[in-house]
Amino acid sequence: PATGSPVLDVRQARKAFGGLVAVNDVSFALNAGEIVGLIGPNGAGKSTLFNLISGVLPLTAGEVHFMGERVDGQPSRKLAAAGMARTFQHVRLLPAMSVIENVAIGAHLRGHKGWLAGVLRLNRTEEASLFAEARTQLDRVGLGEAATREAGSLALGQQRILEIARALACDPVLLLLDEPAAGLRHQEKLALAAVLRQLRSEGVSILLVEHDMDFVMGLVDRLVVMDFGTRIAEGEPEAIRYNPAVIEAYLGG
Ligand code: ADP
Ligand code: MG
Repeated sequence: PATGSPVLDVRQARKAFGGLVAVNDVSFALNAGEIVGLIGPNGAGKSTLFNLISGVLPLTAGEVHFMGERVDGQPSRKLAAAGMARTFQHVRLLPAMSVIENVAIGAHLRGHKGWLAGVLRLNRTEEASLFAEARTQLDRVGLGEAATREAGSLALGQQRILEIARALACDPVLLLLDEPAAGLRHQEKLALAAVLRQLRSEGVSILLVEHDMDFVMGLVDRLVVMDFGTRIAEGEPEAIRYNPAVIEAYLGG
């Protein structure tokens, strides 16, 4: 990013679905090397905000700036190529394909063409380099030994980490993770947190949606809290934990 400018700068982002304002003029920034948690009760607008940031949905109003450039209106494919990678709330792997093939497809997304057309036209050299890149990312997240297994045969915690490896294959500056810890066992959550801390130490910035406050508390640098589409609080985890508006949002609903 240009010196001083945040990796991600969301300005007055708004999304209306008919009469329902799912994201209501939300602003926040994420600086290089930070892990920021986006939390809030179900229906708060977290996934919608992710979709606005990553170009999956158009904004009703507001702006998204990535690495100092205004990017709202650009398609997600272009944003991925520019260094913004994401995962979705529900696992989107190709379960019958191998672990490494799932990542190789992610590596291919770095190009601008649609992945399927591209995969069909790959020559051997291109294919070899995609698989080498995929192998690097699997080793990076500790899944190297599972490379030839069927993706669908992995435990859920490993599938989530595999999705992160696939996102890493786009060589992102910013990773957007939508509820990566949902449904995971305690040990799996610890393994996931370790991977995310390591990525942060390598300079990857991370925006993470999470419903479960306990998981994010020990991991994130900062929290942004949403309720009914609105940003109701922002700050360091310890301050947020005792914020009356946050307690009300979680307990009052
Ligand atoms: P969260 O991820 O915080 O649980 P969402 O962003 O999924 O919340 O949803 C926020 C609100 O927007 C909810 O009321 C949801 O029903 C609504 N919503 C989300 N996507 C759509 C859509 N495509 N069309 C209409 N309403 C939607
Ligand atoms: Mg959601």
